[in-house]
Amino acid sequence: MAHLAAYTVLRGCQNLRLASLFSAASGAAARLANVAAPAPLLAVARRGTASAATTDADVAVIGAGVVGLAVARELALAGQSVILLEAAGTIGSETSSRNSEVIHAGLYYQPGSLKARLCVEGREMLYSFCQRHGVPHSRLGKLVVATSDSQLGALHALAAQGAANGVSDLRLLTADEVAGLEPAVCCVAGLLSPSTGIVDSHSLMAELHRQFEAAGGTTALHSRVEGGSVGATLHRLCVRDANGGEQVELCVSAVVNAAGLHAQTVAASLDGMPPAAIPPLHLAKGSYFSLAPGALDSLMVPPGGGAKGRPSNSSRASSSSKTFSHLVYPLPDPGTAGLGTHLTVDLSGGVRFGPDVEWLLPSTEPRAIDYSVNVARAQSAYATIRAYLPHLPDGALQPAYSGVRPKVAGPGQPAGDFVVQGPKQHCVPGLVHLFGIESPGLTASLALAQHVGAQLRR
Ligand SMILES: Cc1cc2nc3c(=O)[nH]c(=O)nc-3n(C[C@H](O)[C@H](O)[C@H](O)COP(=O)(O)OP(=O)(O)OC[C@H]3O[C@@H](n4cnc5c(N)ncnc54)[C@H](O)[C@@H]3O)c2cc1C
Repeated sequence: MAHLAAYTVLRGCQNLRLASLFSAASGAAARLANVAAPAPLLAVARRGTASAATTDADVAVIGAGVVGLAVARELALAGQSVILLEAAGTIGSETSSRNSEVIHAGLYYQPGSLKARLCVEGREMLYSFCQRHGVPHSRLGKLVVATSDSQLGALHALAAQGAANGVSDLRLLTADEVAGLEPAVCCVAGLLSPSTGIVDSHSLMAELHRQFEAAGGTTALHSRVEGGSVGATLHRLCVRDANGGEQVELCVSAVVNAAGLHAQTVAASLDGMPPAAIPPLHLAKGSYFSLAPGALDSLMVPPGGGAKGRPSNSSRASSSSKTFSHLVYPLPDPGTAGLGTHLTVDLSGGVRFGPDVEWLLPSTEPRAIDYSVNVARAQSAYATIRAYLPHLPDGALQPAYSGVRPKVAGPGQPAGDFVVQGPKQHCVPGLVHLFGIESPGLTASLALAQHVGAQLRR
C-alpha cells in the first residue's frame, strides 16, 4: 500500500506528479498506462484536453469507508487511475465499522427513493460479491414483530411497503409461527424477511480494497483533504499528511466526496462548489449493548416456560444452540429516526442490541464525536427490548460500542434520502458528493458505486 507519507518529501503545497511519485509502488505500470491514455469516462469530464495532461490521477475518491472503497474499486475496474484519500491510518475506521452489519432487504424506505432502489439492488450485488470472493456472510433472515394489536396496521403497512420496493419474499406470520422460529420472542404477529442477512463488514472492506489495488488503484492513508478548488475541467485538492505533515496539492479530473460524517465539511471547503447545494447535517448517535455472560441462557429458557400469550416452547428453547437464528426487530417508532432497538446476531453467534437514537447537539463537530456508550442509556433500551423479549434479566445489557448516523433530516422531520449530487445538481463537471449515507449504506455500497460511476459519465 502506498502512503501519502511519501509525499512529505515534497515541500509546501506543491502539485504532485503521481506518475513519478508512485513509480515504485505495486500496480504502477497499470497506473501509468491509465494516466497516459484516459478512459472514456473521464474524457467527458475533461473538456479542456490541454490541462488533462497535467493531472495526477483521473479521479480522487475522498474517504475509505465502505462506500468510498466500493466507488474507488468500481472506477479502477472501469480503467480509471484512482487515488483513494483517507484521513485515518486505516481503511473503514469510522461509520463503516460502527454499525449493525445487517444486509437489509429494503423494507423501510419510501418507494421510489434512492435508499429503496439502491438497497434492493445493492443487497443482491452484495450477496453475490460475498459468495464469489469468500467474504463471510449469512442470509439468516429477520423477524419484524408487532407486540400489541395496535401495531398490526403498521406491520401490514411495512409488508406492503417492502413489496412495493421489490422485496418479493416477505411472509406475515402468526405469533405461534414466530414462536416456532424464535421461542424466546413474544409478539402478536410477525413479518419474516428471508433475504435479510449479516456480513463481516471488515472482511468486505478488505476485499474491496484488495480489488481496488489489484486494479491499479493507489491508497493514501493519513491524508486529509483540507480544501481545494473545483473547476470546469480540473479540480485541485489540498491534502495534509494527518500526522502533522505538510500540505500537498493534488490535481485530478474528477472528485468523489465519500467522506461520510465529514462530507458537508469537505464540500464546503472546495472553492467553486455552490454552498447553497450543500444539505444540512444532523448527527444521530446509536449505542449498542452486548449481553452479560449467562444472560443468553435466561433469554432462551424463560423461567416458568414460554412467553405470555402463547403456548410454551421451553422444550424447543432448551434444545436450542443457545443463540438466535434470526435477527429480531421491533416495529420502527415513527417518532424516532431509527429502526428500533433490535437484536442482531454476529457471524460467531454473539448477540447484541441496538442502536438506539440520541440526537447530538447541532454544534457537535464530527471530528469531536464522543463514541463512548453512556451506561444510563441501557435503561430505556430495557423497556424497548422487553416488549419482544420479556425475559431479559436486569443487568443483562452491557455497553458495547456506538456509531453516528450522518442524516440530512433533523429531529421530527420526515426521514431523508441518500443525497448523491452530481454535475446535474451543482453544475460542477466531474464532481460527485455523497451526503446522508446512513443505513442502508453498507447494504447499498456496491449499487451506490455504480450510481456514482453513472453520475460521472453524464
Ligand atoms: C449505528 C449505525 C448502524 C448502521 N447499521 C447498518 C446496517 O446494519 N446495514 C447497513 O446497510 N448500513 C448500516 N449503517 C449505515 C452504514 O454503516 C453507512 O452507510 C456506511 O458505513 C457509510 O460508509 P461511508 O463510506 O459513506 O462512510 P464512513 O465509513 O464514515 O467513511 C468515511 C471515511 O472518510 C474519511 N474522511 C472523512 N473526512 C476526510 C477528509 N477530509 N479527507 C480524507 N478522508 C476523510 C473518514 O476517515 C472515513 O474513513 C449503519 C450506520 C450507523 C451509524
